[in-house]
Amino acid sequence: MQEKINLFTKLLDSVHCVGTVDEAVSAVLKKLLFCPFCDEYFIESASLLDHIKKDHPDRLSSKTIKVEMHEVEDDAETVYICPHCRFAVDNNSSSPTSAIINHIENHTGSIDPTARISFQISRDKELIQTYINGKMEIDLFCCSVCTDIFGDAESLLRHLYYKHSDADSKNIPYETINLIRDCAKDFPTQKKAKVKYKLKYPF
Ligand SMILES: [Zn+2]
Ligand SMILES: [Zn+2]
Ligand SMILES: [Zn+2]
Repeated sequence: MQEKINLFTKLLDSVHCVGTVDEAVSAVLKKLLFCPFCDEYFIESASLLDHIKKDHPDRLSSKTIKVEMHEVEDDAETVYICPHCRFAVDNNSSSPTSAIINHIENHTGSIDPTARISFQISRDKELIQTYINGKMEIDLFCCSVCTDIFGDAESLLRHLYYKHSDADSKNIPYETINLIRDCAKDFPTQKKAKVKYKLKYPF
């Protein structure tokens, strides 16, 4: 408990331009990262990710599925493959690279919009035949909060952080809000007393 009070006090110290307790509370909430699966919260993304790995490993497990969505036809010579879900288009497409990039952008939007886009190009006859025969299988990681799918646990983790850890995406327990409120009780006056006039140009 004291640990949390210290954390909130530290965060309150770093917020600026708030006039009311409510504003102070929402400013603190904005700085917190909430676990999508329990009532824990953190300020460092690494701590949140460690917590999910340690306490909710079942949420990061994969399942094997058949790749049913692809555009690989019988006469395919080259395939362009999505690294996340193994969706593939072949050289028959009018622009296979833009087709695969458009597809991959749907994934990166929900993992990390700044992520670099990469895909696999293959002329492997056996691999192409696996698609044509409908035998392509993959271990997929599904988000248990929404329905997005990922090719590896790291991407799913990043997605949980980017999409499901902010205060808006969760019902914050009443006790947490109350505790922050308590810490912010005399916040506006406290803040005024703390204003320091720093010299910007020391000459
Ligand atoms: Zn948790
Ligand atoms: Zn994909
Ligand atoms: Zn999700």
